[in-house]
Amino acid sequence: MPGPRLPHFQSDLALPKAVDAVVIGGGIIGAATALELAERGVSVLLCEKGQIAGEQSSRNWGWVRLACRDPREIPLMAESLHLWAGLAERTGRETGFTRSGILYTAETARREAQLERWLRNLDGLGQGARMVRGRQLAELMPGHQTRTCSALLTPMDGRAEPQMATHAIAGAAQAAGARIMTECAVRSLETAAGRISGVMTERGRVACSAVIVAGGAWSRLFLGNAGIALPQLKVLNSVLRTSPVQGGPETAVRSASLGLRKRADGGYTVADAHENIVDIVPDSLRLGWKFLPSYRQEWRALQFRLSNRWREEAAQARRWQPHQTTPFELCRVLDPAPSQKALKSGWAAAQKAFPLLKTADVVQSWGGLIDVTPDALPVISQADTLPGLFIATGFSGHGFGIGPAAGRLAADLVTGDRPLVDPRPFRLSRFSDGTRYGPQTGY
Ligand SMILES: Cc1cc2nc3c(=O)[nH]c(=O)nc-3n(C[C@H](O)[C@H](O)[C@H](O)COP(=O)(O)OP(=O)(O)OC[C@H]3O[C@@H](n4cnc5c(N)ncnc54)[C@H](O)[C@@H]3O)c2cc1C
Repeated sequence: MPGPRLPHFQSDLALPKAVDAVVIGGGIIGAATALELAERGVSVLLCEKGQIAGEQSSRNWGWVRLACRDPREIPLMAESLHLWAGLAERTGRETGFTRSGILYTAETARREAQLERWLRNLDGLGQGARMVRGRQLAELMPGHQTRTCSALLTPMDGRAEPQMATHAIAGAAQAAGARIMTECAVRSLETAAGRISGVMTERGRVACSAVIVAGGAWSRLFLGNAGIALPQLKVLNSVLRTSPVQGGPETAVRSASLGLRKRADGGYTVADAHENIVDIVPDSLRLGWKFLPSYRQEWRALQFRLSNRWREEAAQARRWQPHQTTPFELCRVLDPAPSQKALKSGWAAAQKAFPLLKTADVVQSWGGLIDVTPDALPVISQADTLPGLFIATGFSGHGFGIGPAAGRLAADLVTGDRPLVDPRPFRLSRFSDGTRYGPQTGY
């Protein structure tokens, strides 16, 4: 079941013997980190086990949003919106970014009150977000047939094209001097005198003094082999795209049942807002208690199931030696089957809300495994126990939008530059230093 079609990316061919920094993972986080480092004159190698943006970074909804997420992410996300606005010029490539705005609709008085409460998180930030009703709402949702009574409009938010943006960033990183190798899994870390001294890849050894793990859904497995515990699970989300449609909303719409946004090709990307599937796997048992607060909060949007993933992950090696083939080489691209039920209900909800969509065809669908942490905040952090090791992962369904700034922050940590924002909320040690962690919705 192939994911979205991706442009060709020209991999470098020869593995360098030594660089300053190795980035593991060619999703948007790894690519943005590599670009930042290369622009600062750091010699950098990015290793991607499969294809650039083959996993989450090309499969997401393409929403670039400040609103309705954990308020602790606001400073980093505000920086990311600035970076997105200049990204096409900076990279010399198309990203599809446009500030189309997002409408978070309220169908009930309770939801309306929640959205009004969330809006207060933006007080003083001058982002222009506001509640809209009546004619204004009707103009923003042309032809809608929903019971929306009001909506939070966030004009600073927007969308970009997941099948373009990471390629643009990785291409610019390469042009700035970064070496980028696809089909090149990093197997393990090497240390000398208690700090990072290199990595072993499937194609040989590379000496370096810094490693950034941006391995998306694989980061826990990779770090576990190095003795570093990262609480991280995966959630399946299923997405479809339509053929081009004349008319329909330009502004992305998030309702109780639906997430929908216009695409650069004139179609829509559509998903059911509630059909998120949590496959029960051995890690669910190991980490279950850490995730209880987020399960409690999100239970309406989660479906737990026992599937083949239990067998697949139970059979996966959790420890290996540098000369051994690793799970990263055995699965070049994580390509889960989408849930047919989620696709059906998402498409039915979209056509009901916007009858105009009945003129469109479903052109493609795919699944994506979202990597999540127990508090739904990313880890952008050095590893306290291993100097030279940095982690940028666990973006919990928000990494596409926040990616450019997350890459900048990760690069700041590597180079010791003044951090773009306070990195403390994102430190890895929050899961082990007695901090009371858990998701905050800001509602
Ligand atoms: C269906 C879906 C909808 C989403 N919608 C949105 C949205 O609208 N807005 C938003 O902001 N976010 C959204 N997200 C989340 C967003 O896509 C992710 O947070 C983001 O793409 C994470 O980027 P990443 O670089 O950390 O991970 P990934 O894109 O998953 O990249 C990690 C890469 O690391 C590689 N890798 C792993 N281990 C190794 C190794 N040992 N050696 C070499 N390579 C390795 C993998 O092959 C992979 O390509 C969504 C996600 C999904 C799945």
